[in-house]
Amino acid sequence: MNCKDVEKLIPLFLEDQLDTEELRDFVDHIHTCKECEEELTIQLLVTEGLQRLESGNAFNLQDEFKCHIADAAHTLKVRENMKWLLLGLEGLVLVLSLTILSLIFIW
Ligand SMILES: [Zn+2]
Repeated sequence: MNCKDVEKLIPLFLEDQLDTEELRDFVDHIHTCKECEEELTIQLLVTEGLQRLESGNAFNLQDEFKCHIADAAHTLKVRENMKWLLLGLEGLVLVLSLTILSLIFIW
């Protein structure tokens, strides 16, 4: 993923609309690219900061930024775990079907 891709995905990231693959590449890039990190910070400020200020709540840009990145990392972890869980379940179903099939054949 290059800077142009990341720039396009920032609004989607802020709305939590990226799929697992995109989210992983996006976060990886943000961690390694100072310019995109800055761009994300600015967009975060524009979209969320203004809303927050309008509603009279305090807004800490640094905290918000960290919070978003931590959320993304958490989402990735959960999705990764779900993937393994589903794989495990599929394996279980396969084993059960094979067991049932072999039982049918034995009888
Ligand atoms: Zn970049």
